[in-house]
Amino acid sequence: MKLHTKILLSMLLGVGVGLILQATTPEEFIPSSVQLQEGLEFTKDVLDPDSLRARWIAPFAMVAQIFMSLLKMLIVPLILTSIVTGVASLGGGKDFGRLGGKTLIYYMCTSMLAIATGLVAVNLIEPGKGANLGLEIPQNFDKVAGSGFGDILTRMVPSNVFAALSENGAMLQVIIFALIFGFFLARTQAPNGPRLLQFFQDAFEVMMRVAAWVLSLIPYGVFALMVKVVGETGLEPFKDLGLFMLIIFGTLLFHSLVTLPLLLRFLGGINPVRWGKAMSPALMTAFSSSSSSMTLPVSMESAEHRGGVSNRVTSFVLPLGATINMDGTALYECVGVIFLAQYYSAHSAAFDLTLGVQIFVVITALLASVGAAGIPSAGLVLNAIILKSLGLPDDGVLLLLAIDRPLDMLRTGVNVWSDSCGAAIIGKSEGDNILAVEAGAPPGET
Ligand code: ASP
Repeated sequence: MKLHTKILLSMLLGVGVGLILQATTPEEFIPSSVQLQEGLEFTKDVLDPDSLRARWIAPFAMVAQIFMSLLKMLIVPLILTSIVTGVASLGGGKDFGRLGGKTLIYYMCTSMLAIATGLVAVNLIEPGKGANLGLEIPQNFDKVAGSGFGDILTRMVPSNVFAALSENGAMLQVIIFALIFGFFLARTQAPNGPRLLQFFQDAFEVMMRVAAWVLSLIPYGVFALMVKVVGETGLEPFKDLGLFMLIIFGTLLFHSLVTLPLLLRFLGGINPVRWGKAMSPALMTAFSSSSSSMTLPVSMESAEHRGGVSNRVTSFVLPLGATINMDGTALYECVGVIFLAQYYSAHSAAFDLTLGVQIFVVITALLASVGAAGIPSAGLVLNAIILKSLGLPDDGVLLLLAIDRPLDMLRTGVNVWSDSCGAAIIGKSEGDNILAVEAGAPPGET
């Protein structure tokens, strides 16, 4: 059986087992405080750990945890070795500038296209106007615009390399260090420069082998993850936010099934269906883990060995993309914040959803998606930050928290899909023979 068929089947099987658990064990949710990053804490109904269902889920949760740890274990060494070798082998000169320029332009454009899609839909349908959210309407809205986003730039530069390397959440810092290190490695003369480059290349080769091994474990990991996710989710919170969810789903699907395939076809001359098939292990991992960072090893393996993108391109484009190119998250920020802003503006004369506010949301949504870590619910936390900087209360985020998992799954899938389309288009423009490996013996296929 082909690997992607196996993964798809195990995903469906996982959903099936999760639904059976939901149907056969009673709902036992208890309020519990959940800590999201950035110090935001909320109270949320979670599955009671002593309940029957939780005890059934426990072994699946354990397998899922081990699988996710395996993926996370690869993140830092893979980013470090891939970017250092990628940049150093580009020689740090003209090639580097050209590839970097193409990558950044692609990332900017696709994120803006995603935001535009969301913006049009949320303004046409106006889901926030009539929504029955039961949120308290404050008397005044005090505007503290701009707060928080100078931070993103400041935080990009690590003050301690080893501290950054020891934290999976500090990907952008690791990338900045690796870019600088690789750039100067290329400028260091023999014997030191080439000798050290050889070391990084060798280490990178080993890491990719480990990634290929983890790839073969995905069907089991994905199965366990889906049982856990479906089993732990109550269906209650989805009622009031149906229209909002529908808009997010619809626009995310539009971006990934229409916009990005058109770019693939017309910019790269690549068949989107075949490219999607080649990248399917990465897409399904993204979907079930809700984390672009965790998916990175799989994306690199798939793009290189199933898609035929050169190592020179993947090792630069994909780690950067997993960190700063999040089309799904950008779209979600925009639609989520405007949805709540519509609600407040419909219920209070003190807040007006003006064109200025919309422009502010578009810009911050783009910045937020660049700054978001590739971990579950990162986009939700940023929603709270944008709402605050608009002077809106952030308790709307609490509502969105309850429904975040399915939305997060899809936006993470879109994030990874956009990175991979970027790798294909840029690879093609650099002369890579995209999808040619499929005809031969694809080394990544197990
Ligand atoms: N979970 C997403 C990702 O890792 C980020 C987000 O929450 O939007 O790509």
